[in-house]
Amino acid sequence: MSTPVRVRFAPSPTGFLHVGGARTALFNWLWARHTGGTLVLRIEDTDAQRSTDEMIQGILDGLEWLGIDWDEGPFHQSQRGARHREAADRLVESGSAYPCFCSVEMLAAEREAAIARKESYVYSGRCRGLDPAEAARRREGGEPSTVRFAVPAGETSWEDVVHGHTAFENRTIGDFIILRSDGAPIYNLAVTVDDLDMRITHVVRGDDHISNTPKQILLYGALGVEPPVFAHVPLILGPDKSKLSKRHGAVAVTAYREQGFLSAAFVNFLALLGWSPGDDREVMTRAELIEAFTLERITGKSAVFDVEKLEWLNGQHLSRLSGAEVAAIAKPLFVHARIADEAELARRAAWFEDLMALVKTRSRTLHDLVEQGRPFFPGPVEYQPDAVEKFWKDAALADSALAVAEAYVAGEEQWGDLEAMEAGLRALAEESGVPAGKVMQAMRVALTGQRVSPGIFETMTAMGPDVVRDRLAAARAWLAGRAASQAGA
Ligand code: GLU
Repeated sequence: MSTPVRVRFAPSPTGFLHVGGARTALFNWLWARHTGGTLVLRIEDTDAQRSTDEMIQGILDGLEWLGIDWDEGPFHQSQRGARHREAADRLVESGSAYPCFCSVEMLAAEREAAIARKESYVYSGRCRGLDPAEAARRREGGEPSTVRFAVPAGETSWEDVVHGHTAFENRTIGDFIILRSDGAPIYNLAVTVDDLDMRITHVVRGDDHISNTPKQILLYGALGVEPPVFAHVPLILGPDKSKLSKRHGAVAVTAYREQGFLSAAFVNFLALLGWSPGDDREVMTRAELIEAFTLERITGKSAVFDVEKLEWLNGQHLSRLSGAEVAAIAKPLFVHARIADEAELARRAAWFEDLMALVKTRSRTLHDLVEQGRPFFPGPVEYQPDAVEKFWKDAALADSALAVAEAYVAGEEQWGDLEAMEAGLRALAEESGVPAGKVMQAMRVALTGQRVSPGIFETMTAMGPDVVRDRLAAARAWLAGRAASQAGA
């Protein structure tokens, strides 16, 4: 095959870029980049009431976050009405389409009769038999009319890259409208004319468009051109196997940026919704996805949107970044959370990179980084109730453990040598008769407020002796206060 691949992403800007649309955009982008082909962006804004500039901007923002770039466009379908009407005229001239003068009431009556007979409704074709010269005269005389495509007898089929041989009986399609009475093109005509003009070779889109495809193939035939290759991608379902909805988080993809996901991880996640590389790889960079992507590997089964998988992938991508890379991403989040200002982070840049390297392995999202990183900055920590419950339940024991910790910190001279620090603590704990494990657990809560943290000696080293001393003192005071209030109660 020597024809260069030309694909398109053709969103209707009647909503934000959601997960399904983003996945369609991504598959087209991956196929274009894999083949060295061209991706065209076409905004299908023919629904003037529902398409707003805000929605268009939202889609562009979403694509930008995902790193999906395009080579041609954005073209606006609304500006191509003349081309669509021209094609409709050509189809009328060649006898493949005809003006229809049926009134709304007549069509409603036809529909009701079909329902009464328990048949699915298709237009009766009443106006198809009109004499063309007579029909043209009525049209020119200003009588309101739509234009319908004259669906021939037989069957329309194609070899779908995903679903294989797919066929529709033409009589189930019925003569469909291609031009409204106000001259506005209907979706199937506009898409076909645009795909043709833009020399699209592969149409990759959601399964929800399968029933449009035979109509578009019929239009291609009547316009005398070969249709492109079609690949219909199965729908994305929620974890409960129902259609993905807002309830499942089917919101603007940029909401995932706000929730602390990395663009590379989100792209990786989207790519695996209905596609697989054919080996057991799951964590893949954009470059690896481009390298491995083919339309043939799109699966025919619907894909399930699993947030836990997304979180896991995000953690994997995070842990593969260097401390410096994570620091660059995390910096604005720390500033935003008012944990530190730009100046402080700039002054302690190397320390902050080490800190990010330390906490990234236990973090799934960027918010986890912030929460795990927070206690390493000076200031009071908040003791998480689950941590208190688990490690400070016995206040007397916790206090004696923290007393050992204070004594240990006061005498520690090998700050930063993790093994020596551990040996020193264990020796002191043994002398004091408090199990070393208890000392470390009680310290973890005192230093971080949390149940889990990086290793206690790494944590101490990253915090530095001053912060550690302050935290231990504050924890003992807090425990004493709690004991007093319990005694008083
Ligand atoms: N504009 C259509 C939509 O957003 C897609 C058209 C197509 O891909 O053919 O659903």
